[in-house]
Amino acid sequence: MKPVRSMGTCALVGAGPGDPDLLTLKALKCLQQATVVLVDDLVAPAILAHIPASARQVAVGKRGGCLSTPQTFIEKHMIQLVHQGERVVRLKGGDPFVLGRGGEELARLQAAGIEVEVVNGITSGQAALTGLGVPLTHRDHAQGVLFITGHAQPGVTGPDWPSVAQLCHQQRITLLIYMGASRAAHIQAGLLKGLPAHTPVAVVQNASRPDQRHAVTTLNTLHQTLQAEGLGSPCIIAVGDVLTGLSALQNQSASPIRCVA
Ligand code: SAH
Repeated sequence: MKPVRSMGTCALVGAGPGDPDLLTLKALKCLQQATVVLVDDLVAPAILAHIPASARQVAVGKRGGCLSTPQTFIEKHMIQLVHQGERVVRLKGGDPFVLGRGGEELARLQAAGIEVEVVNGITSGQAALTGLGVPLTHRDHAQGVLFITGHAQPGVTGPDWPSVAQLCHQQRITLLIYMGASRAAHIQAGLLKGLPAHTPVAVVQNASRPDQRHAVTTLNTLHQTLQAEGLGSPCIIAVGDVLTGLSALQNQSASPIRCVA
């Protein structure tokens, strides 16, 4: 008789923005117990060092515009692995439940009768502003924060930027735009319909990683700044008055754009 293998386990784990010191202890524990780790391409190489040598690593990139493993394949593969008795970790950049399709994966796994553990990670929008020494909220400048995608799903209308701008302006909300680099001109034009042209903006690429770079500018020169500085994906576009102190500092310097390589 064939030995019956018991069901494995599955965890959707946030790898955080890149700095391994920002991994949670829970994420680290999951990695240490994993037998298979499916790795998103936004997971920084420094994080991979924490995957035990005994675990199999499978790269399953999902980067916008690049060749990537189809989502349905990833989900089916995870289900198969769990049925084979593996301790599966799906390691995702940032937080698995912030704009990372974690919800879709959770639903597929649950529909297959698999219990899933979800482990939060620090989302890149948080790390981007913290890395500049800027709070997401501040009683004088912003009473809330909005995490939003700049890249609509195919066939779905993306955010209505003029409405988003009005909300952020009227309600004093910090805007953190993910996946916005390739749509920066469109986003800028839309936001200018509800926010003043001089609203401070920061673009942070590779937040928390050794190659982090950023630029500080204003809304009316967002796209121009991205191009001039060669900033691109993965980056966070942060918009709002919480950045006021940072732009004031930058205005005191000789260059209109302060970019840290
Ligand atoms: N779940 C992720 C977001 C995935 S969507 C999170 O919580 O961070 C992918 C987008 O996240 C990228 O296009 C970029 O906008 C942003 N991103 C991910 N890692 C980043 C990093 N280290 N620095 C800046 N932006 C990052």
